[in-house]
Amino acid sequence: MTWSTTTTAAPTGAGPLTDALAQLESALAHLGYNGGTRQMLATPRRELMVSVPLRRDDGSIAVYSGYRVQHNFSRGPAKGGLRFAPNVDLDEVRALAMWMTWKCALVDVPYGGAKGGIAIDPREHSLAELERVTRRYTSEILPIIGPTKDIPAPDIGTDERTMAWMMDTYSAAMGHTVPGVVTGKPVSLGGSLGRAAATSRGVAHVALMAMASHGLDPERTTASVQGFGKVGRDAARFLAAAGVKVLAVSDIDGAIYDERGLDIGRLAQHVDATGSVAGFEGTESIDPASILTLDVDLAVPAAVEGVLTGANADRVQAKIIVEGANGPTTREADAILADKGVVVVPDILANAGGVVVSYFEWVQANQAYQWSERDVNDRLEDKMTTAWHAVVDYAGAHGLSYREAATALAVQRVTEAHRLRGLYP
Ligand code: NAD
Repeated sequence: MTWSTTTTAAPTGAGPLTDALAQLESALAHLGYNGGTRQMLATPRRELMVSVPLRRDDGSIAVYSGYRVQHNFSRGPAKGGLRFAPNVDLDEVRALAMWMTWKCALVDVPYGGAKGGIAIDPREHSLAELERVTRRYTSEILPIIGPTKDIPAPDIGTDERTMAWMMDTYSAAMGHTVPGVVTGKPVSLGGSLGRAAATSRGVAHVALMAMASHGLDPERTTASVQGFGKVGRDAARFLAAAGVKVLAVSDIDGAIYDERGLDIGRLAQHVDATGSVAGFEGTESIDPASILTLDVDLAVPAAVEGVLTGANADRVQAKIIVEGANGPTTREADAILADKGVVVVPDILANAGGVVVSYFEWVQANQAYQWSERDVNDRLEDKMTTAWHAVVDYAGAHGLSYREAATALAVQRVTEAHRLRGLYP
């Protein structure tokens, strides 16, 4: 176990952390905050790196690198997803943890930001192996997580089953059931109704608000969605239900296109049966790299970071980009898109629905009382609408992009909490 509590994040070259720090710098410059505040916000409060040994089904042993980064606690316990992906590294987790801090502040839930990950490809492992690796990782990070310390949730490559194993491992160590240690659990274990689709519901809700304020009628709007996982799939479904014609979607194995608009319900059945969007009957197979540059009105990246770059941003034809994924747009792409007049609704606003309902799940766990799905969805919509208007108003008042406005608002709130609490000792 390696502890590091003093590292100032210093990224090398391009990547999500470079982008996250540049966004922070621009917010600090706008707010006129000083060097001490900058250092405090640029530096994760706590980072934990662990080795995760796994006994494979064939008896051999493999060891994976695991991480948990807690970026900030000024507004409350740390909160953030757990990612299983082969390219997870410390800088990526640092960036994602920082974005979680801004996201929680922006939608005003009482958390700081965290993120975790294991550099593992879940597609290469059996369920039994994934369970063992999850339980071992959980026990390695156990000293720093808990319902009042840091509350993990699903992210890329993990799901409600992963959260059930985490909760069970943590509870076994505590000697009693602790439902509040994770969110995104199965409903039968104290998960919240509406949590599974919450991120996507928020993405679609924000997309519809963005379309309305930029003169796009859903019934006459076309869209493409990159990623057909927990976020992309239901985002496509909600958009289609609102009348948007979703022409194309992609996943890691391929991309499909139908100029008449995809039948998302049937596509979901195809994906459940085959594991991929590729080969969906009646559709054209297209180059996955083209999904965000197609001739559509709305593009929704909902897969991984760094997909809109200096190399493809000038080919974007969409009028609006709504970031379902975290960090899909690099700094270079942001500048190009701004020049082209493309509206970018940033991740910390667009995909915040997940953490909002995670917060509701945690509240329900603390109350030991389950809210109705309608209650959850209404309150989610309320939170997203309030955050949307705050960002639009701030952007308008200060001549900023939505990303700049969202980051500045969040940084302001986190800094205020820090100032009010004071620096110990
Ligand atoms: P997931 O693992 O459920 O799905 C990821 C999807 O992206 C899959 O369809 C996969 O095939 C596809 N994909 C992976 N690499 C790709 C690539 N290079 N090109 C195209 N498609 C690719 O993950 P998820 O939970 O849906 O997360 C997606 C994004 O949304 C991530 O950036 C995540 O951090 C962010 N996010 C997730 C949540 C949540 O509640 N799950 C909340 C906020 C933000």
